[in-house]
Amino acid sequence: LSERLQAAMSKLRRKGTIKEADVKEMMREIRLALLEADVNLQVVRQFTKRVSERAVGAEVLETLNPTQQIVKIVDEELTKVLGSETAELNKSPKIPTIIMMVGLQGAGKTTFVGKLANYLKKNEKARPLMIAGDVYRPAAIDQLKVLGHQLDVPVFDMGTDHSPVEIVRQGLAVAKENRNDYVFIDTAGRLHIDETLMNELKEIQELAQPDEILLTVDAMTGQDAVTVAESFNEQLGITGVVVTKLDGDTRGGAALSIRAVTGKPIKFTGTGEKLTDIEVFHPDRMSSRILGMGDMLTLIEKAQQEYDEKKAEELARKMKEDSFDFNDFIEQLDQVMNMGPLEDLIKMMPGMSNVPGIDKLQVDPKDVARKKAMVFSMTPEERENPDLLNPSRRRRIAAGSGNSVVEVNRMIKSFNESRKMMQQMTKGNMPAGFDQMMG
Ligand code: GDP
Ligand code: MG
Repeated sequence: LSERLQAAMSKLRRKGTIKEADVKEMMREIRLALLEADVNLQVVRQFTKRVSERAVGAEVLETLNPTQQIVKIVDEELTKVLGSETAELNKSPKIPTIIMMVGLQGAGKTTFVGKLANYLKKNEKARPLMIAGDVYRPAAIDQLKVLGHQLDVPVFDMGTDHSPVEIVRQGLAVAKENRNDYVFIDTAGRLHIDETLMNELKEIQELAQPDEILLTVDAMTGQDAVTVAESFNEQLGITGVVVTKLDGDTRGGAALSIRAVTGKPIKFTGTGEKLTDIEVFHPDRMSSRILGMGDMLTLIEKAQQEYDEKKAEELARKMKEDSFDFNDFIEQLDQVMNMGPLEDLIKMMPGMSNVPGIDKLQVDPKDVARKKAMVFSMTPEERENPDLLNPSRRRRIAAGSGNSVVEVNRMIKSFNESRKMMQQMTKGNMPAGFDQMMG
């Protein structure tokens, strides 16, 4: 999916400004890319319509960086299609939380029970119980037992001679007795949806009143996955979806249309056969992944910072000449402010929390405003020539900007620190951690 989208994006990226015709062509490419990836036709139509509406409007055409804006819109709209918010597991206010798995045979229900039990054990120290409700194949019960053994999670089973409803009834009683906090009900699937299966599932649902009915769909089944999801949802009112087999080169587009078609959130994905191959589904991250956002994000970031390259060059030249002055200082302060909350940026960078001094990088907008006020109280000569600032000039600046001399001195100290850092950088001596930060 991402390859084609990326090609469409990069074509656009090479253009300076965007005309309506460009948007049209771009949308055509995106449309094809999505259809090729097996995204549901309805979903594609809605998606491209929304993106076009937003893109063709003045919003884009009048901005300085139209390309980045379009990328941003596509990312935002795709995130919406995928569900916007990360959907949490529904939990019961009193134990146990009951999770019922439904889906066609081979979709990955039993495997997922193992994965989620393992996940909850690790993350919440949960004490789940798994109920073997697939009585049609002895192998299915064994499969769950093997998982239980591997994970050290109890499995409740009564062999194949009882009805699934009866097994669930007794299993729930055992869970209550043992105060298990989660109960997983593994059910049988069929190759196709049929009435007998649905009726059986409805009976279990009525009895167990599950907090979650998770439909498991196989990402490799293409548009079938969407049809299956629709009918399971109609019949049972599912609460969430698990998309399995999103590993390898699965196109995945169909499965990802499920949210748009059923309105039910994707909660987890399966990305392999191992018990640890489970991921919480984050719509924004999935969108980024689909769009191959690595370099896109950089682009958008750049656009948002509105970083003027000429200014950067100027700054670099000044640093070389060792002439970093208060005008540059102001510019630096503005740039830092424009970058948005530093904390957010830092959190996005791998390994950044370990860099010494990183916690001191906080920027207080009030502090920046105060510093600017002081610089604005300087004469142009003073701004260009910081060494002029003798005590009487400092007193004048303090009075003029409504600050104390102590504060003026502190600001000058901070300026000198910036200047020193700039000098170090041009000499190739990065301050500790800085190369990692840029890295
Ligand atoms: P069930 O019939 O719905 O219970 O499906 P199973 O849990 O028995 O899984 C059917 C097959 O799909 C098994 O061979 C699993 O190993 C495999 N499987 C399940 N989830 C995934 C996944 O996320 N990725 C891959 N590659 N295989 C999976
Ligand atoms: Mg199974």
